[in-house]
Amino acid sequence: MRVAVFSTKPYDRRFLDAANTGLGHVLSYYDARLSPATEGLAAGAQAVCVFVNDEVDADVLARLSSKGIKLVALRSAGFNNVDLEAARREGVTVARVPAYSPHAVAEHTLALILTLNRKTHRAYNRVREGNFSLEGLLGFDLNGKTVGLVGTGKIGEVVAKILTGFGCKVLAHDPRSNPNCEALGVRYGSMEELLSSSHIVSLHCPLTPATHHLIGSDALKQMKRGIMLINTSRGAVIDTQAVIRGLKEGIIGSLGLDVYEEEADLFFEDLSDRFISDDVFARLLTFPNVLITGHQAFFTKEALTGIAETTLANITAFERSGRAVHEVSVEKLARDPR
Ligand code: NAD
Repeated sequence: MRVAVFSTKPYDRRFLDAANTGLGHVLSYYDARLSPATEGLAAGAQAVCVFVNDEVDADVLARLSSKGIKLVALRSAGFNNVDLEAARREGVTVARVPAYSPHAVAEHTLALILTLNRKTHRAYNRVREGNFSLEGLLGFDLNGKTVGLVGTGKIGEVVAKILTGFGCKVLAHDPRSNPNCEALGVRYGSMEELLSSSHIVSLHCPLTPATHHLIGSDALKQMKRGIMLINTSRGAVIDTQAVIRGLKEGIIGSLGLDVYEEEADLFFEDLSDRFISDDVFARLLTFPNVLITGHQAFFTKEALTGIAETTLANITAFERSGRAVHEVSVEKLARDPR
């Protein structure tokens, strides 16, 4: 198939080219994000391939469909940036990569927790400057602490497994309990119980209307004072303005983010010679107890290999049979809302 591949960096191209070996799809790579301003680049293609910050809304889908695009192949598990209702109307199939190394994201979650707790990022700089003072670096034992996981699907389950190894008690909230987590000793409860009992809360649910700003003013009122909040799911699961208030009031003791609700204008680009015009993001950067990574939790060799292979498998299956391997659609979601 002729595929217009948006939002690509050299590393994406390397892994996709390797997965395309012997398949012969014609992959045209673009740095640009898919948007109303760039959709013209898809002219002559039969499919588009997109990532987390591409805009696949009703307007873009109508324009793509009029160009003969039949498939949107997501290189991500999340599909909150695609208007599935519009895709159905336009007869465009949407496929995703439902699983590709949940370990990558789970292990990065632990990197955020351990760094924020033991302040290794600050220690690294201090020691290089000959400052061996420990003042300000005090952490706590993870052993025996309660960690609340919101969402115990593929990623949440691996996080639960790792935390159990650290000796943590794991509480979870998920409309569906996961038997593998229950076997680990994870206890399910309400969101209120999770917020009021956890020392650390980590988000692993998808972004849906039900989870949009799940952590906002109301959640702050229920939190144990001084909690560590970690978000590696999607930015808008957190109401950033409310969380900033929580940091200023000391309700949130530390914050680790790999995702941000307005990340599309910032992440994945080198903006180091410009100023940050997003004042909310700039405010976050002023807190010594906030650690932000730019949507890199998925970024391991294993995950990039899995993403590329599953994406190419979706494209190949669609070319051969008119059906992708991992389709996502309004009908499918109505049957299984996970
Ligand atoms: P998954 O579908 O396996 O699990 C998601 C879980 O969330 C399910 O068990 C589901 O029942 C639960 N859930 C749904 N609504 C909920 C709610 N209102 N409250 C609590 N739980 C709810 O997905 P996954 O592979 O574990 O990925 C989870 C999310 O992580 C993805 O949706 C994606 O947004 C994000 N993600 C981020 C990165 C990254 O690089 N930062 C990479 C991959 C995935």
